[in-house]
Amino acid sequence: MQSKNWIGGEWIIPSGQEVTVKNPSRITEEVGVLRLSDSSHVFAAEQAARLAQKSWAELTGAARGEILFQMASALETHADDLARLASQEMGKQIGEMRGEVARGVNLLRYYAGEGMRSNGNLIPSADTNVLQYSRRVPLGVVAVITPWNFPVAIPIWKIAPALICGNTVIWKPAEHGALTATRLAEIFAETKLPAGVLNLVIGKGRQIGNTLIEEAKIDAVSFTGSTDTGKQIAVGCAGRNIKYQTEMGGKNAAVVLADADLDKAVPILLSGAFRSAGQKCTATSRIIVEKAIYQPLVERLQTAMAALRVGEASDHGAYLGPVASAAQYETVGKYVSLANEQARLVAESPAAAVADQGYFIRPMIVEGVDASHALVQEEVFGPLAVLLAADGFEEAVELCNQSVYGLSASLFTRDLASAHRFLDLAQAGMVRVNQETAGVEYQAPFGGMKLSSSHTREQGQAALDFYSEIKTCAIKYAW
Ligand code: NAD
Repeated sequence: MQSKNWIGGEWIIPSGQEVTVKNPSRITEEVGVLRLSDSSHVFAAEQAARLAQKSWAELTGAARGEILFQMASALETHADDLARLASQEMGKQIGEMRGEVARGVNLLRYYAGEGMRSNGNLIPSADTNVLQYSRRVPLGVVAVITPWNFPVAIPIWKIAPALICGNTVIWKPAEHGALTATRLAEIFAETKLPAGVLNLVIGKGRQIGNTLIEEAKIDAVSFTGSTDTGKQIAVGCAGRNIKYQTEMGGKNAAVVLADADLDKAVPILLSGAFRSAGQKCTATSRIIVEKAIYQPLVERLQTAMAALRVGEASDHGAYLGPVASAAQYETVGKYVSLANEQARLVAESPAAAVADQGYFIRPMIVEGVDASHALVQEEVFGPLAVLLAADGFEEAVELCNQSVYGLSASLFTRDLASAHRFLDLAQAGMVRVNQETAGVEYQAPFGGMKLSSSHTREQGQAALDFYSEIKTCAIKYAW
């Protein structure tokens, strides 16, 4: 397969640099070829999006919603082939990848329905002859910049609310998800989506991203990715006074109190830490345990870890696949070396039977480092979690909050009072009890505190606040 840009309804193959995409489960296998764009493609997409925006915004919400329903049906029809491609491209285990595509279908339907819901409020006026109300209006052309770790769901949770609000979109996916992005655009091209409403430009983050942020006439940016890139984007957007949303890194803690049901907590902890090979912004990477149950929890984790199977992403029985790329393998590998040198191994899963053929990393849990150590403070974005002991609830919460990030946090307990106190005290945008740090539902707001986010929220109704502006209208009808 070859990547292509989709601009103004036309398929364009850039003549720039060619990059061969290798399957991270079998690095000798070629999945396809990327053709990287240059700035001229960004400007072409900007023109196409600008040209399409007025008539798209003039459609009724119901008409835009109908097209989103078509996009959902088209995606549902091609769900299996898209999931297979994404799994080959970035290594997410096939069962999980199918779940991600299903989330994409649901998100499209959820936002399609918004076309028929209220988009404003009637506001009483001090003057009896004045009708006053607020309504949402679109921002215009929105740039959507996405990472590789959720190559289907993240783009859709930005594109769907952007479109239903009447915006047009220029989408720049990560290079490691660019084949999946091309296929997704092909699927959407089967619908009645008008030309130029959604435009896809594939290329290098720095070049395409910088042109988008610094030069193209866009009205807003929604970005998900690393904190460093997000901060740069925020500065660029603030300088132009355009609306921006940056969803960034995490170092999520799961706290296990002494009264928790350990048998139920352990599989949830492992799923939070190791599904998607730990490459979720909401992955559990710190497990904070009350001392009284430290040893019993360790024993259960050891038993459960011994049964986790790492395998090819296409393997239906594998718990996790490889990490996504050579770059990820190298970065996570550095943290694994650091853990081997400076921490103590608590539990490890067996190596993949096919370990030599791809970017496979054995999931591991370590202990014996203090709360300021790099393994406890830095985002690893791989299958490595750190155990920390706490003297009681207060210390556990303190450790949980001792982070520059604040995306997601969980507590395991049977005590309702502790649950409520944790929900109050944890400094995270998403706080959960007896559940994974990952897996927040699409109809609920998604986002973080501190360095995890620009303090806006995605998904649910919150996304509509980002992709629209409020206009206050007042009519004096008798005077
Ligand atoms: P990244 O920052 O390297 O890239 C993200 C996107 O930004 C890619 O499309 C990339 O090409 C583009 N980009 C890179 N440099 C750019 C620039 N100068 N200007 C504009 N765009 C640029 O991140 P990644 O490695 O793809 O993703 C992993 C990171 O994403 C992790 O830190 C993870 O925590 C984070 N993430 C956060 C969330 C969330 O919702 N908070 C969700 C998923 C992933």
